[in-house]
Amino acid sequence: MMNLTLSEKYFERARRVLPGGVNSPVRAFGSINMNPPFITKAEGAYIYDEDDNSYIDFVGSWGPMILGHNHELVRKAVISAAEKGLSFGACTKAEVELAELICSNIKWVEMIRMVSSGTEAVMSAIRAARGYTSKEKIIKFVGCYHGHSDSLLVQSGSGAMTFGSPDSKGVTRGAAKDTLTARFNDLDMVSELLEANNGEVAAIILEPVAANMGVIPPKEGFLQGLRRLCDKHGTLLIFDEVITGFRLSFGGAAQYYKVEPDLVCYGKIIGGGMPVGAYGGRKDIMSCVSPLGKVYQAGTLSGNPIAMAAGIATLTQLLDNPQIYQYINNLGEKFAKSLRAKGPCTVNQVGSILTIFHQEGDVASYDDAVRSNIDRFNENFIKLINSGIYMAPSQFEAIFLCNAHNDEHIKKFIDTIY
Ligand SMILES: *Cc1c(COP(=O)(O)O)cnc(C)c1O
Repeated sequence: MMNLTLSEKYFERARRVLPGGVNSPVRAFGSINMNPPFITKAEGAYIYDEDDNSYIDFVGSWGPMILGHNHELVRKAVISAAEKGLSFGACTKAEVELAELICSNIKWVEMIRMVSSGTEAVMSAIRAARGYTSKEKIIKFVGCYHGHSDSLLVQSGSGAMTFGSPDSKGVTRGAAKDTLTARFNDLDMVSELLEANNGEVAAIILEPVAANMGVIPPKEGFLQGLRRLCDKHGTLLIFDEVITGFRLSFGGAAQYYKVEPDLVCYGKIIGGGMPVGAYGGRKDIMSCVSPLGKVYQAGTLSGNPIAMAAGIATLTQLLDNPQIYQYINNLGEKFAKSLRAKGPCTVNQVGSILTIFHQEGDVASYDDAVRSNIDRFNENFIKLINSGIYMAPSQFEAIFLCNAHNDEHIKKFIDTIY
């Protein structure tokens, strides 16, 4: 019998008791056709697996680890909170502190509600938008990911102007029918959808920089155009800043592009590695949320003291050290420039997130992204991981930079790829 690595042995065991061996699908390395490494620890820019391999990590837990892994101040805050008890299901000072950190530094977030995941944040923000506007439909963009709640697991229907259809087994047509889909960066299509569904659209939701079909920046004027269309139609603009929030700048993409949403969803960085999400925005809208208003939303572990401690420590570091943004955004720009110089590919980069699309055309929407050469992506992925460089195992994900990355890490990546 062949000698298996420890990761291979664990994956064999995992597949017997976890669907596909994982608790979140992308971790299974399904499109790569290789076993995923099982991770034991992480420090700074590096992660380590069960077989003592080390990797320069360009995933960063899909975004939260913007300060680098196992940052001392975050770890200490978590340990200190844990010593006082893991959960109370009652009011704590920490929840107020995290909310104040956000509300006093981000103008368009007047009130905020903590939840435990990005999925929950988006699902709840949409409910609040529907409650506030008394309208039922929403518009989302093909290729934008907003977590796995039913009404957002929707793909475009057969005709461009039809209702969305379920994008997953188990999602009912009923749940999908109030979700309209548009092409990212296509303002005309949004305008037509709003006209065709006049007075019925509660909200437009988007990743202001798409990062779940690979990184796709908004074209100049796109976000501003959505803002105008929303105002014209009495529709709320929701930014899903689960990736971009506290990453492109403290105020996320909204601050970066100077467009204010009515509601914003956070996740990932806001919990510094712990399970946290949040939604917030205009006070008149957030006042609809229970117990103040009639939109019900609750959570046993919402505002959990350990999670709040990690969030406070992470956001405080970012606020106290704004040069972090300059550093990682600069690094992103240099990285993209060197990649473009090296090979025939399209590199989309905004701040500290980027994607190498294995094609040469402009990538401005999902239609464009799927033209990429997946075989070439996979070849490069395998070359990278075998050289100790860990990136997301899919063409349609972002490379995440953090404050622990440096020029040498980038150079090693560039020297290895193609
Ligand atoms: C990750 C992500 C979510 C979902 O967050 P979870 O914490 O995984 O539920 C929602 N929206 C965007 C933009 C994301 O990247």
